[in-house]
Amino acid sequence: MKLKIFNTLGRELQAFEPREPGKVGFYGCGPTVYNYAHIGNLRAYVHHDILVRTLRLLGLDVAHVMNITDVGHLSGDNDEGDDKMVRTAEERGKSVLEIAEFYTKAFFNDTERMNILKPTVICRATDHVADMIDLIKKIEAGGYTYMAGGNLYFDIAKFPPYGDLARLKLDDQKAGARTGVDANKRNPQDFVLWFTKSKFENQALVWDSPWGRGYPGWHIECSAMSIKYLGDQFDIHAGGIDHIPIHHTNEIAQSEAATGKHPWVKYWLHNEFLVLDRGKMSKSSGTFLTLQSLVDKGFDPLDYRYFLLGGHYRSQLQFSFEALEGARNARRAIRDRLKVLADKAGTIPATAPLPAVGDSAVGKIAEALAAFKSALEDDLSTPRALAELWGLLRDNALPPAEVLAAVFDMDRVLGLSLEASLREAKPEESGDLVREIEGLIAERAAAKKAKDFAKADAIRNGLKERGIILEDGPGSTLWRRS
Ligand code: AMP
Ligand code: ZN
Repeated sequence: MKLKIFNTLGRELQAFEPREPGKVGFYGCGPTVYNYAHIGNLRAYVHHDILVRTLRLLGLDVAHVMNITDVGHLSGDNDEGDDKMVRTAEERGKSVLEIAEFYTKAFFNDTERMNILKPTVICRATDHVADMIDLIKKIEAGGYTYMAGGNLYFDIAKFPPYGDLARLKLDDQKAGARTGVDANKRNPQDFVLWFTKSKFENQALVWDSPWGRGYPGWHIECSAMSIKYLGDQFDIHAGGIDHIPIHHTNEIAQSEAATGKHPWVKYWLHNEFLVLDRGKMSKSSGTFLTLQSLVDKGFDPLDYRYFLLGGHYRSQLQFSFEALEGARNARRAIRDRLKVLADKAGTIPATAPLPAVGDSAVGKIAEALAAFKSALEDDLSTPRALAELWGLLRDNALPPAEVLAAVFDMDRVLGLSLEASLREAKPEESGDLVREIEGLIAERAAAKKAKDFAKADAIRNGLKERGIILEDGPGSTLWRRS
């Protein structure tokens, strides 16, 4: 096991050692289902997907848990603002559960279109309120809470490690405490575990509890559900970087206060944001791009997946339609190249037997596969993994059937449906056309060698008119559709 991942706890690359050999417990914060996921949210879920697929490639048995937030999330993560679900329900004249059901379906429709594997456990907050109440009781029994203004708060002063994950300087924050903070809070970072005093007249979903009829704060659901499905301590927890200072910080405080066990989670992974040229994308601002809006412009959801894989998850990624077009062209070029390889091989290998290191050509493929795996083991470097894929595709000297097998093997992590794209290649990409293009490329290479540049150019231009672009690389020429 050589996997290294960047742990936000400690802010360093660390060797991944599962708590139990061969098994991984992973919790990724799921969506708040009051609206469509925007393409920034989908970046977080593609990141989780690459993590899960890489762990499985490395032979680990992964339990992946994802929550669906359908109660308790206010527009500010720190208990400020409106209830996101209630506000949308009121605007649309629907019930909160109807809104939740609609957007949950929409969410999984998006993730499926992006080849994001379904988590092992998907858990809705409203189905787990009893678990949340049980956990809050434990926190209360430990002396970590106080009642004020009808709500039950977590008292961060009772939990000295509070803020370690985010390296918060609490004294500074207290001195500069913002106005508008709930006056019931002893510390600005204290947070609600259970609301009984709803700020909203028609709070749709309420439950009985030892603290009165009400509803849970947002953070408690992730602690309660992850502990329920993964145990008091588990391996990996992930979410976007926005979750470091409040949501994940509060999750740690609640969980460790309830169980008395430290550390609750061994590795914390956070993805950087996807940004638009206009700046940050957020659901609550109402100006965001959905996956469907990309599809409506003629893109395939997997074009967007490819675009995301081109950036490392810990770097901010700027979205633009030009960049998305680049991703689409790259995917088409891959498919065209696969078609050439399949044609040369005479067959599409059904499964992906790993080539053995032995004769030099096959050895090169094995090396590329090893480099691909190392890229992923190096904090999930998808850009380098893609470069390894391209290295294989560009090398004309390699045996085509083995290259195809290796590429399909890589796709177990990349999730670009490469085998399916080849099988579904349209009639105009039939073997005859591919053979013709390959023949012309060979003729052009021969013409160039004989210094007959006029002929070489004529072949290139002729193909260009037919929408085929040639790209000369070191030692070989690849083609793609314009
Ligand atoms: P939410 O549904 O708002 O709770 O967010 C779902 C996930 O998306 C969380 O892990 C967020 O941290 C993450 N996220 C939100 N905005 C972005 C963005 N612009 N880029 C990447 N991840 C994001
Ligand atoms: Zn969470």
